[in-house]
Amino acid sequence: MHLIDRLKSRGWRLTAQRRAIADTFSGPSIHLTPEEVWVRARVAVPEVSQATVYNTLHELVRLGELREVDGLGRSRRYDPNTHAPHHHLLCDGCDRLVDVFPEGDLLASLPAASRHGFSGLQAEVVYRGTCPDCAPR
Ligand SMILES: [Zn+2]
Ligand SMILES: [Zn+2]
Repeated sequence: MHLIDRLKSRGWRLTAQRRAIADTFSGPSIHLTPEEVWVRARVAVPEVSQATVYNTLHELVRLGELREVDGLGRSRRYDPNTHAPHHHLLCDGCDRLVDVFPEGDLLASLPAASRHGFSGLQAEVVYRGTCPDCAPR
């Protein structure tokens, strides 16, 4: 289900601005920086402010409808795919971010002795490298 439909079904208050922001996240695999959301939302609602974009993104993260993806020193992205657990590949050349589904249990590689008594562990991996378009020929 697309983000906008999930928000409608949970009764999220949809103003024109909030709708324009949520609408930017339609597509099968989409990860947007706040700046990209702002640029796209303004096509539909020119008066939408950057502050509204930030506030709305934070609210959607709090609601569990968007996931923040660490940009490893680059811009953070927002990902509406919160229902299928996945990890990411990040291209150092062009910032392209791709969903990946590693096999096996990523936590299994962290022995109990290395967990420092932490509980409720989760693993979130961003693999870095060079995509085919950026690879030297
Ligand atoms: Zn690339
Ligand atoms: Zn993703």
